[in-house]
Amino acid sequence: MKLFCDLHIHSCLSPCGDALMTPNNIVGMAFIKQLDAIAVCDHNTARNLPAIKEVADMMGVVLLPGLEVTTREEAHMLAYFRTVEQALAFSDAIYPHLPAIPNNPKFFGEQQLMNAQDEVIGTQERLLISALDLSFEACAALIGEYGGLCVPAHINRGSNGCLNALGFLPSGIAYDALEVSKTVPQPQMDLSGYRILHSSDAHYLEHILEPEFTIEAGEKSVEALFSAIAGKS
Ligand SMILES: [Zn+2]
Ligand SMILES: [Zn+2]
Repeated sequence: MKLFCDLHIHSCLSPCGDALMTPNNIVGMAFIKQLDAIAVCDHNTARNLPAIKEVADMMGVVLLPGLEVTTREEAHMLAYFRTVEQALAFSDAIYPHLPAIPNNPKFFGEQQLMNAQDEVIGTQERLLISALDLSFEACAALIGEYGGLCVPAHINRGSNGCLNALGFLPSGIAYDALEVSKTVPQPQMDLSGYRILHSSDAHYLEHILEPEFTIEAGEKSVEALFSAIAGKS
């Protein structure tokens, strides 16, 4: 079956994510738009996923647990996991690799941790949009170690897409998919060997995708979606 997906959305835990990107608002918007599945991928953290998962389960929206890591070269890379627990374990593993630079909420925005009632239950001290002290290759390897899927983010967009940040797509890494941005010129390279994902990278509610991008999966479940992206369905 075809699942309507938006697999790159930020919550209010990302400093650049709008304050309205709460668990209930994100999942509610996905539900209204009749999306089958979403992935919330905050910068370098999975800590809002438990609340989002709780809400997603209640509303019947599949949540693919994810993060968007910033490599040492300032390239963005998505990591998708089968379970929130795996995503949290990975999140804990990379936190020590974030520079101990505190967030300045006035400048970068709040980093709000929420519960499933959209109540603020804490913040993250370290600025989450900093680059990890891990190379592109090291990040890819660590994602694999934790059982995740490695998907370079918006490879053709902005200074944080790997085609700009690195100048090329490193070979020798088993990417599960590539995220290509539709809003900018398409990459001038042969992408035929790759699974391509198109997502919103929404930092505001109104930017969450309409039902326009689908993934063929065995059923509407996180396991089936994960397998489909991993190419093992
Ligand atoms: Zn990004
Ligand atoms: Zn993003």
